[in-house]
Amino acid sequence: MTRIRCNRCGHPLEEGSLKYEVAVKVRSSFDGTIPQFAQDREGEGLASVLHEASLYTEEELNRQVYEDDVFIMCPQCKEAFMEDIYSNLHPKATPENGRAHLIH
Ligand SMILES: [Zn+2]
Repeated sequence: MTRIRCNRCGHPLEEGSLKYEVAVKVRSSFDGTIPQFAQDREGEGLASVLHEASLYTEEELNRQVYEDDVFIMCPQCKEAFMEDIYSNLHPKATPENGRAHLIH
């Protein structure tokens, strides 16, 4: 028998119990502005860029651009996860009052 555990708290999740898949999709965001330090390095050339990139592993470089993860969570951890995200964005929002419509 495969026993599933909550990825956040480790609590065992029995077959048929309420549980959630929490998908986290993170993408780097570009606002159209190139910082001055990057503009100052414009003449350094491709070799310099490649050297700097070689200081990181492929995984580290990929994680600077995107990350996709899916976590299995018990109801309490799903709620705590969502509360943590929404509490800074809109502290008075609740699942019953506006929270589900803040980010989409
Ligand atoms: Zn949990």
